[in-house]
Amino acid sequence: MINSKKDTKPNLESNYDEMRARLLHWYDSEGRTLPWRIRPEDRAAGKNADPYAIWLSEIMLQQTTVAHGTPYWHKFLNEFPTVTDLANAERETVLSLWAGLGYYARARNLHKCAVIIRDDYNGQFPNSEAELLKLPGIGAYTAATMAAICFDEATNIVDGNVERVISRIFTIEEPLPKGRKDIRKMAGALASPQRTGDYGQALMDLGAMICTPRSPNCSKCVWQDYCSAFAAKTQLEYPKKAPKKSLPIRYGVVFIAIRGEAVLLETRPDNGLLGGMLGLPGTDWAEGGFPTDPMNHAPFKGDWQAVNGEVRHVFTHFDLRLAVYRAVFDEKDISIGHNGLWADSSQRKGLPTVFKKALKAI
Ligand code: SF4
Repeated sequence: MINSKKDTKPNLESNYDEMRARLLHWYDSEGRTLPWRIRPEDRAAGKNADPYAIWLSEIMLQQTTVAHGTPYWHKFLNEFPTVTDLANAERETVLSLWAGLGYYARARNLHKCAVIIRDDYNGQFPNSEAELLKLPGIGAYTAATMAAICFDEATNIVDGNVERVISRIFTIEEPLPKGRKDIRKMAGALASPQRTGDYGQALMDLGAMICTPRSPNCSKCVWQDYCSAFAAKTQLEYPKKAPKKSLPIRYGVVFIAIRGEAVLLETRPDNGLLGGMLGLPGTDWAEGGFPTDPMNHAPFKGDWQAVNGEVRHVFTHFDLRLAVYRAVFDEKDISIGHNGLWADSSQRKGLPTVFKKALKAI
């Protein structure tokens, strides 16, 4: 559903060339400098985008800010200078370096994808959007971005920043997530067939720097003349969003077994939440209240004491409440099973945030 109000909406199609030219001109002087980015002046000096570096940045920044993700990008490139180095690393090492970025399925897919690139593609990323899309962890946005930036393919790059700009320019009335179809259509029609990577990055920069969610700086915007939302003074109404459903609450129990400086950790099953990561032993996380039989889930018998209060953590799809029990052990030879590890403080550094919160509670 694209707004067709004749009074506020200019006939944009005849202006697409001018809009692209203005945006690229702005990007050439005002676009962001990012460690993985090849700016126009870099390209003029003979540098090319490194698909591995671009891929790492795109996967890392999917759910976090540039400021938070950038140190991780440096850390990964220092530790694994090539995609083959990343493939050759132990998955546990990759997961522990990823700790703090969240969404651990992405780290597992990162490693899986690196192994495929090493084994099936001779250590080189494929050079088309269609081939990139076949790889684990590479979705529509990442494939389009990599193909445009690294291989100059004319693709349609749409991230959250682009969604905001396009929905305002065209006053797209259909709320997200359904409205993404209209947004993609208009973004695709407007996308530049030349300098495709620069254009995509310019549009993302416009969203990140000028057309921001709460205070768009329209007086500095090179597309102000074409913007329906600006003309109607309704910028902040876009993108329209369907009302949020409140998150369900899940409950669980974790056990903190202490032996000297060490704490018992277990490797979580691969196929669940935080799969393959180290975590504290405990119950499943389910709706309907705290488990009524927590001691049946303790890793072994002991003087388990409930810790006051509960630990709270928000995941994408649910809110978690954790009850925490602790006990101190002297025995040297408690059977901890093949998944268990008495972890010292350095081994606990890579724990997911939810378990760090539980450890803090004691
Ligand atoms: S004029 Fe304002 S609302 Fe419209 S695209 Fe530019 S910054 Fe965004």
